[in-house]
Amino acid sequence: MAVMLAGMGVSRGISIGPVYVLHRNQPEIIERSIEKKQLSKEVRRFKTAHSLARKQLLKVKEGIPEDSPEDISAFIETHLLMLDDSMLANTPVDMIKQHHCNAEWALKMQRDAIVKVFESMDDPYIATRRDDVNHVFNHVMQALIRGKSRDEDEVQNWKDHIIVADDLTPADTVLMQNNGVAGFVTEMGGPLSHTAILARSLNIPAVVGLTDARRYLKPGESLVLDGANGMVLADTDDNVIDHFRKRQRDLRRKARELVKLTDAKSRAKSGEKITLLANIEIEDDLKALRKVNAAGVGLYRTEFLYMSRDDIPDEDEHYKTYMRVARALRGAPLTIRTVDLGADKEVETVETGPLAHNPAMGLRGIRLCLNDPSIIVPQLRAILRASAKAPIKIMFPMLTTVNELQQAIQLLQATKQSLLNDKIKFDEKIAVGGMIEVPAAAISANHFAKHLDFLSIGTNDLIQYTLAIDRIDDQVNYLYDPLNSAVLTLIKMVIDAGNKQKIPVTMCGEMAGNTEYTRLLLGLGLREFSMPPNSVLEIKNVLRTTNIASIRRKALSFLHFSDRNKQAEMLAKLNS
Ligand code: PEP
Ligand code: MG
Repeated sequence: MAVMLAGMGVSRGISIGPVYVLHRNQPEIIERSIEKKQLSKEVRRFKTAHSLARKQLLKVKEGIPEDSPEDISAFIETHLLMLDDSMLANTPVDMIKQHHCNAEWALKMQRDAIVKVFESMDDPYIATRRDDVNHVFNHVMQALIRGKSRDEDEVQNWKDHIIVADDLTPADTVLMQNNGVAGFVTEMGGPLSHTAILARSLNIPAVVGLTDARRYLKPGESLVLDGANGMVLADTDDNVIDHFRKRQRDLRRKARELVKLTDAKSRAKSGEKITLLANIEIEDDLKALRKVNAAGVGLYRTEFLYMSRDDIPDEDEHYKTYMRVARALRGAPLTIRTVDLGADKEVETVETGPLAHNPAMGLRGIRLCLNDPSIIVPQLRAILRASAKAPIKIMFPMLTTVNELQQAIQLLQATKQSLLNDKIKFDEKIAVGGMIEVPAAAISANHFAKHLDFLSIGTNDLIQYTLAIDRIDDQVNYLYDPLNSAVLTLIKMVIDAGNKQKIPVTMCGEMAGNTEYTRLLLGLGLREFSMPPNSVLEIKNVLRTTNIASIRRKALSFLHFSDRNKQAEMLAKLNS
C-alpha cells in the first residue's frame, strides 16, 4: 500500500529510486571494568580507533572534487579540528586510566558530557552544533566497535539509491556526491543544518526532519522524493511513478530552457524594467553570478571575510578583496553591506558582549559597530577607497532608529574626512543605503528614506522579528510565513516610502529569490530583487510572463487576508 510521508524539503528536485537504509544506531555501550595490567592495551585500542577515524576523514577530504563549493571542505576541516581537540583526543584516555573502564564507555561518557554542555546553551545555533560533536564522536566510536569508521563496500552500493538515515554527517554528504546518490531523507535536521546546506550546494534533492523515516521506509522499495515540498512517497504504483518521472523530465527540461534566458531582457511582459541582482558571500559566488548574467551585486555579506580565521581582516585586506570582486563584476554595481556580525553570524575574533541570552536582539550589525567603531572604520575606509575605481554602494544592516542611521552616516563622514586628510581618492557621492529588516525601521521607512539613497528589505530578519520566531530554531520554523499580512504590510510600507522619496527599493532576503512570491512582490510595487545567483533565471522567467497592471489589485488584496488557506488559494490563482 502506498505510503506518503512529509518532512521538510531542504533541497529542490525530484528523485526516484530504491531506498537504502543506513542503520548506524550503535549497540548499547556497556561499562566494563578493565584490569590494571590491561589498561595500556585499552588505551592503545582507543588511540588506534582515533587515528583510524582521522585517516578516514582525511581520505574523505582528499576525495572532494576540486570544483566543489568551499564550504564542503570547511565542514570536514571543522570535524578534523574537533577530532584533534584534547577533549576527544586525550580526555577519554585519562578516563580509561582513572576509572579503569573500557574505551567505548570512556568515549560515551565524554560525549554525553560535552553534548550536555552544548544543549544547555540558550543560543539555538550553538545548540544545533551538538550534531557536529555527535558526528565526530561517532566516527571514533564506529572505529572502536567495528575496527573501521565506515564500511567502504557499503558506500559503493549507494549509487542511484535514496539514502534514508537518522542523520548524515558532512563527510557522508561528500561521499554521496562522489557515489551518485539520487537523494536523501533524514530523521533529524532542519533547513539550516550543515547537511541541508551541502545538499543545496551539491544539488542533491533532500528531505530532512522526517521523524521515524527508517521505521516506515523499507530497504529496496521504490521511493519518490520531492525536495521542493518535503514529500516522500513509498511503495506506490507504476502510474504514480510515471507521473513523477514525467515531472522530473519536465523539471530538467525547464532547467535547460531557463539557460536560454541568460541574455534575455529583464522586463515584465507589460514592459517594466526589473533589476535582478545577486547576493554573494564569498568570491567563489561570482562564477555563479556571471553564469546567470545578474545585473550586479545587491548584497555582499562581508561577515564571511571574518569567518574561519584567528584574526580580523585589516583595511588593506578589505580593500584588496573589494577590488577583486569589483574587477570581476566589470563595471556592474557592487553593494557592500558593512559587517553584520552577531546573532547567527558570530565569530570568535570579534567580541559581541556578554549578552548571550537573546543574541538576535542583542549587539549585532550596526549596533555592534557603533558600540565599537574600530570594527567598522577600516572597512569603511576600504569601501571608500575602492569606490574611487568602481561603482560601489555602502549598505548598513540592522538599522532600528533614525538616530542610529545618523550616527552611522556621521561615522562615514568622519572616515571620508580622514581620507581627504590623507589625500586618498574616493567617490564623494557614494550611494548609501540601509537594510530595512527590523519592524520599527519598516514602519518608519519614510523617515529613513529621507537620509538614504536606497532601501533594501531584508525579509529573513524582518520575518523573524515581526513574527517573533528565531530564524535558526527549527522548533518554530512552522510559523515562518512570508505571506503573513503583517509582513506584507511592512514590505508595502517600505516600497511606498521609497517611491515617495524617489529612491530605489531592493529586496535582498530569501523571499526575493522564491518564484512563489515574484508576482505578489511585483504587484506590491517592487522593481529590484537581489537573490542567490541560482534563482535569477527562474525569477526572470516569471516576471517575463507577468502583466503587472493586471495583477496589482489581486496582489494588494493579500494585505487584507489573514486566513492562510484562503491566501494559498489566492497565490495559486495569482501564479497560474
Ligand atoms: C535578511 O535579513 O533578509 C538578509 C538579507 O540579511 P541576512 O540574511 O544576512 O541577515
Ligand atoms: Mg539580515
